[in-house]
Amino acid sequence: MYLYNSLSHKKELFTPNNPDLVKMYTCGPTVYHYAHIGNLRTYIMEDVLEKSLRYVGYNVKRVMNITDVGHLASDADTGEDKMLKGAKRENKTVMDIARFYTEAFKADCDKLNIKWPDVVEPATNCIDEYIHMVQTLLDNGKAYFVGGNVYFDTATLEKYYVFNDHDEEDLATGVRDGVEEDTNKKNKNDFVLWFTKSKFEDQALKWDSPWGVGYPGWHIECSCISMKHLGEDLDIHCGGIDNAFPHHTNEIAQSESYLGHKWCNYWFHVMHLNDESGKMSKSKGDFLTVSLLEKKGYDPMAYRFFCLQSHYRKNLVFSWENLDNAVQAYDKLIAKIAALKNQGEVEQDAFDQLKAKFLNAINGDLNTSVAVTALYDVLKAKCNDATKLALIADFDYVLSLNLIAAADALNKKQAEEEAANADPEIDALVAARTEAKKAKNWAEADRIRDELKARGIEIIDTPQGAKWRRV
Ligand code: AMP
Ligand code: ZN
Repeated sequence: MYLYNSLSHKKELFTPNNPDLVKMYTCGPTVYHYAHIGNLRTYIMEDVLEKSLRYVGYNVKRVMNITDVGHLASDADTGEDKMLKGAKRENKTVMDIARFYTEAFKADCDKLNIKWPDVVEPATNCIDEYIHMVQTLLDNGKAYFVGGNVYFDTATLEKYYVFNDHDEEDLATGVRDGVEEDTNKKNKNDFVLWFTKSKFEDQALKWDSPWGVGYPGWHIECSCISMKHLGEDLDIHCGGIDNAFPHHTNEIAQSESYLGHKWCNYWFHVMHLNDESGKMSKSKGDFLTVSLLEKKGYDPMAYRFFCLQSHYRKNLVFSWENLDNAVQAYDKLIAKIAALKNQGEVEQDAFDQLKAKFLNAINGDLNTSVAVTALYDVLKAKCNDATKLALIADFDYVLSLNLIAAADALNKKQAEEEAANADPEIDALVAARTEAKKAKNWAEADRIRDELKARGIEIIDTPQGAKWRRV
């Protein structure tokens, strides 16, 4: 499988350290509010990545954190802890907020067919691990303690901006716009590993540490949680593109300084979903959630389909019109699948040929829009329906669009509607008309048609025979 690696800026053949187990880490949600559908685009594409790796034969262990402490309002280590903001907003404790929004996130993942990772670890579970890593970095001269906080010293690194070739000044002003500089820092990119002092003294969750009572920085949690469950060598680390800097950049700095060797080989970043105003944000009152889509009558599967129709390395613009188009396309797709009859034996040659296009799309840096085209090719192909249904089920392991289940549900609904409408007397009249036509008794056939019309029944002549419906 070829994947674009943000470290090398090119597509690379994916080769895990151990071919028997791919070690995958994904940055989890900050559980101070509902996830917006932009966040969920990232999780959908990470789900596609995990399932694609499994589809091509890898065993995968995937770990995700739940950020319930340490993520400050600005990613540059300033502002209030987001969790505390959430707790104040709802007049609840931080732990209540964390529990509630973790459950809400899980429910959203279920609705979008996003598999829950093998290990999901709340950041507050791993305080001992953070203290150990921070102490090791201090012992190795990679960190320093000043003004009550422990900072990572970026001057000890050969290269800090690992993901991009941008000018350092551009990057720094990009993220620090309007953010006050912390005068304790020796270098502008240094970041906090452990806080005991911040401008917000009312931090709710604090722990004892060798440097005083305090709490961990946000970046340290992903390094430690990953190493706790996946060891010292990680194959692939994922997140939305905004995580590349400073979060992932800082994760790499501290992890490799702690380990003394390269940590993670592949970095997978999903570009953003934006609304027409250019940004998807939780601070804008009624922000877009899965529940809001459902309230407006949208099936979460249509949103997943909308995401799959474009490549994860392209920005995607959300509008209701774009979503409506995806709904129409999804419903049409399901109707076509529902019309297939599971008869006959799977034709292996046709199966292999049609599967090859899908596999190529997946192997070519997760080209989900081409993978969806491969699905339409199946529907148009000359093979029998059994082969088509087998291919659709096979592709849906990765796409996870409920294709077969939704088609079955549609067939069941139609059968129920027909049963509810059934009327043996009208069936008998329609049959009598058919007989009259066969006997060329046109007058009688017309009389029956008129009688049915007067009763609000329309006859529809189809190649399969006459059918009727109420008008
Ligand atoms: P957060 O809960 O803020 O920590 O973000 C959770 C995930 O969503 C992270 O991987 C972010 O990079 C990602 N993310 C944030 N905003 C967007 C967006 N507009 N589109 C896609 N992914 C996003
Ligand atoms: Zn992270």
